[in-house]
Amino acid sequence: MALDNTMTALVTGASSGIGEATARALRAHGVKVYAAARRIDRLQKLADETGCIPIELDVRDRQAVKALGEKYPVDILVNNAGLGRALGSMWKAEIEDIEMTIDTNVTSALLMIKAVLPGMIERGRGHIVNMSSVTALYPLPAALYGSTKGAIHKLSRDLRLELQGTGVRVTEINPGRVISEFYNVAIDDEEQLKKAVENQCEDLVADDIADAIVYCVSAPWRVNISQMEIMPTEQT
Ligand code: NDP
Repeated sequence: MALDNTMTALVTGASSGIGEATARALRAHGVKVYAAARRIDRLQKLADETGCIPIELDVRDRQAVKALGEKYPVDILVNNAGLGRALGSMWKAEIEDIEMTIDTNVTSALLMIKAVLPGMIERGRGHIVNMSSVTALYPLPAALYGSTKGAIHKLSRDLRLELQGTGVRVTEINPGRVISEFYNVAIDDEEQLKKAVENQCEDLVADDIADAIVYCVSAPWRVNISQMEIMPTEQT
């Protein structure tokens, strides 16, 4: 699908990291980008710099998500908002952390798709890009977070089949370690933090993932890149 100013995209989690980089990259290709997240000050700055349209949104707000789908028909959804908690020791997570991780990473992603898909199907074109992780594909000591990304993996694979004949493509992105604010809150255990950084290597940067997403969404219409795994060269 050629990227130009006739195309619209909604990027969730666009206030930092991968989401922000993706919003910038799509905008740089002329796409009209709705940039959604809770930190509206960050989104406003992004809007001033790029022309993205800022949308204050908590993806766990069911009504707001539904209304968004109805109000802003989009060709591309980048379902990126997400977080990690209790990496390395899920049994230490509070119930609230478990619920928040599943709600943000899985339920909200499903509802975001449910909100935008009817419009895509009606127009006969669309592209859902789901942010998963390598944790969905390989064993890693991140059982809580990994189980949510495993769900996104299965969702992406199965949804693609459900959408056969509708003109809507589905892509799952599986990044390895990316420098972002993700790790500021994902690891709250000193010992686990030490373990997590033991495998020191040059991490990916958010632009690396944004470039991959642009590649996937701009592929010729006959091409559905159903999955893209992107690892730092030296990450085991
Ligand atoms: P960041 O912490 O930089 O970005 C997370 C984004 O999600 C922020 O924009 C945040 O916005 C948004 N977000 C979180 N909760 C909500 C919510 N309830 N409502 C709306 N937005 C929300 O991390 P990354 O850029 O690294 O993470 C982006 C995605 O990539 C996540 O899904 C993550 O799991 C995935 N990922 C990250 C990897 C990494 O190594 N960093 C590796 C593999 C996958 P705000 O707080 O303003 O609402």
